[in-house]
Amino acid sequence: MFGADATTDSGSGLPVPGRLTVLAGPTAVGKGTVAADIRRRYPAIWLSVSVTTRPPRPGEVDGVHYHFRDEAGFDDLVAAGELLEWAVVHGRHRYGTPRRPVEDVLAQGRPALLEIDLQGARQVRVNMQGAFFVFLKPPSLDELVRRLVGRGTESSEERERRLRTAEVEMAAEAEFDVSIVNDDVRRATDELVSWMGLTPAESH
Ligand code: 5GP
Repeated sequence: MFGADATTDSGSGLPVPGRLTVLAGPTAVGKGTVAADIRRRYPAIWLSVSVTTRPPRPGEVDGVHYHFRDEAGFDDLVAAGELLEWAVVHGRHRYGTPRRPVEDVLAQGRPALLEIDLQGARQVRVNMQGAFFVFLKPPSLDELVRRLVGRGTESSEERERRLRTAEVEMAAEAEFDVSIVNDDVRRATDELVSWMGLTPAESH
């Protein structure tokens, strides 16, 4: 049901053969911000759009930020084997990566990026040979806690839940091929892009 979106192809040529890169890391480290910077400055990289049972936040568009599904709709995707990986994140909503667009994009030779949680990254390691795993980490755990609280979009109960998740996730760094410190979004994005075999943009 999901196809790779041909309109996202920049037509700018392919610097490297398609390779799947997985970006994971603790809650509130800024994975989403790095992914947004990739989308804005590096259109040659294809970014997976996940499916989720979480309701949309203001400004989020179905099919752009996520494919929003109800529980039954998500069940159908799981049963049909359409998800490359999926997980319950923060003990709440389900999130998953549609399989076919990833396979299509890699077959085209285009570099592809998944921004997913740790549980999902572990599943991809089992399911996809040759994927490359990048751990995005904060300058310190203190800084992570500041970012977690500073975002202010969750209830205190939700923040506690996310902090517990973050501590567990920080311990997973050794499972990854490389780590990138998210001290500055553009710098971290450019480092990620270099690992993906592209030349970082000089100005945008
Ligand atoms: P949010 O609800 O704030 O958009 O995302 C919450 C978390 O879900 C983030 O840590 C994000 O990395 C993770 N996530 C987003 N999409 C996926 C996915 O397709 N699979 C998995 N396993 N996690 C995802």
